[in-house]
Amino acid sequence: MMAYTNLIDYGTTTNRVPSIEAIQREARLFAALDDDGDGLVHPRALQRELQGAGLRITDSRLSGVFAAIEACGENPMDLATFTRTISSGSLLVERALQGSLAVADFGAFQQRMAHIFDLVLENRSGDQARYIPPLAEVNPEQFGVSIVTVDGQQLELGDSLTDFSIQSTCKPFNYALALEDAGEEIVHRHIGREPSGQRFNAYVLSDDNRPHNPMINAGAIMCCSLIKRDLPLHRRFEHIRDAWERMTGGFKPRFNAFMTQEEERTGDRNRALAYMMKNEGLFPDGHDAEDHQVRAALDLYFRTCSLEMNCLEMATAAATLANGGVCPTTLERVQTPTTVRNALSLMHSCGMYDYSGEFAFTIGLPAKSGVGGAVVLVVPGLMGICLWSPRLDKVGNSVRGVDFSRRLLKSYTLHMYDSVTHDRDRDDPRVPVLRRRVRLVSQSLWAASTGDARTVRRMLDEGADMELGDYDLRSPLHLAAAEGHLDVVQLLLDAGVSPNPRDRWGGTPLDDALGGGHELVADTLNRLGATSGTSVHLAKDRATTDASASYGDPEAVVELLWAAAGADLAAMRRLVALGVPLHAADYDGRTALHLGAAAGHVHVCEYLLRHGHPRSCRDRWGATPLDEARREERLDVLELLERQ
Ligand code: GLU
Repeated sequence: MMAYTNLIDYGTTTNRVPSIEAIQREARLFAALDDDGDGLVHPRALQRELQGAGLRITDSRLSGVFAAIEACGENPMDLATFTRTISSGSLLVERALQGSLAVADFGAFQQRMAHIFDLVLENRSGDQARYIPPLAEVNPEQFGVSIVTVDGQQLELGDSLTDFSIQSTCKPFNYALALEDAGEEIVHRHIGREPSGQRFNAYVLSDDNRPHNPMINAGAIMCCSLIKRDLPLHRRFEHIRDAWERMTGGFKPRFNAFMTQEEERTGDRNRALAYMMKNEGLFPDGHDAEDHQVRAALDLYFRTCSLEMNCLEMATAAATLANGGVCPTTLERVQTPTTVRNALSLMHSCGMYDYSGEFAFTIGLPAKSGVGGAVVLVVPGLMGICLWSPRLDKVGNSVRGVDFSRRLLKSYTLHMYDSVTHDRDRDDPRVPVLRRRVRLVSQSLWAASTGDARTVRRMLDEGADMELGDYDLRSPLHLAAAEGHLDVVQLLLDAGVSPNPRDRWGGTPLDDALGGGHELVADTLNRLGATSGTSVHLAKDRATTDASASYGDPEAVVELLWAAAGADLAAMRRLVALGVPLHAADYDGRTALHLGAAAGHVHVCEYLLRHGHPRSCRDRWGATPLDEARREERLDVLELLERQ
């Protein structure tokens, strides 16, 4: 509640009409969905928004909300009914409607994932594991992808609900469990933290005589010896399955006894590793370790490799790690944050067999793969991903799993160190698509218009494109000239910015300087080859005053105007839900209604008017939305604006 009160407070200073930000949170959310402004919202519209944001009908956090929606049937909700309907999950509903869940633009993200999925599906290289029949007999064509965010948004593609053998993907989770049960100090007395530089099942120990790390077989067997070691074997195994149930939000992994039998039948190498460690006195009881203890550790290792899960469950467990140990769908804490950090660190350096270094370098995310064809990826603080397809490459990683990871990283800035790259060619799923586009220009435009030379200089240093214009093709040079900021004009021209960009009306920066009466700026522009344009602004009826609002978040204003120009109603709803006043004006006094009118988007103009957008807003040149519609000959909009 607090945050929204603040939002409202810093919202407007000069608005002169009662607008949405002045009313309660529920009313704001209601208004966002009330497209036709008749004071009614259809329950299905609410359901569609929630599902569109990646939330599921089965989500326990929203069971009350979805039950209430169901109870409404086809009857539209008024504000009171709407408020009651969302009451049991209103915070989550609010974040969904505002686009502030972990993945902001879930629809766009989902589409791109589906596209990558289709491309990767074509990749049929590699071969499945053949060392035991239950793996050799799996249909290699299968391909599943699931992504679960730390806010419990879910995405499933292909065979995402088909069970697979988890194999080595159990290792980081067993390691986490050993840490929780035995403590970090004891676990690392027995297991190191270095990549081995050898195959995952090599007969090697580190120089200090420990298995190198918990992600290779020797270390994983040792982890199993440390999980609830005082309990009988079947209890220890149940304890592990219970932990999975908590990480997956209520799904117990299935156990394939035949797989275990086959692992045992062919498991000499693992037995050899275990006895090599026993011989070195590495098990918890040192040289006193008894044979049955070694066999129990092996047994537990074979059994946990033989658990079966589907992509959705595995992605949820990975999302629990991404979320610092709290399952995103049940909100239950399963591991301590330190345990999670340790597990992620070792996944990052050792999780992908002999490709671990390369994977850490190019993909830059903690991951673990298994010979069953699964790759588990964690994007800390954002999401868990499970990719599953049986065909493996030479080192044992799923071909499609690695292929998908590569393409994912080509598309999104998810590498751990992407935060330092300022990469403009890839998107950040944490930011709505439109907002990202807005960021590229709004900062330079506001900085130029307020005379913030320091920011302009920094952006020039960073190589930002300072010629980029907004929806009206207004560029930083136009705005610096219009406001008479000589130092900024000089900076931009010195940096080689073109002196004669044209805005929507054909106006150049020189026109702006002259229009604003900034002679010094005009002289400077003249000297550097600037010319006048043929700026055409229709501004009739100058008597009316301006009724637009100013708003404290300039980026949101530009986003709103861009949404109106692009007829992006979904983005406009999100901004209403956030409390951005729809009649907020930008650096040129332009409002959403100006932009909607100029582009001829009747339904956008209707939405704005129904939500209280005043008609009498004037831009820098005195033009109203009606003038805009007239100039651009948008007859439908003209009719709408003249009605009444
Ligand atoms: N059960 C397999 C083994 O220990 C696991 C292999 C793997 O997925 O890395 O050999």
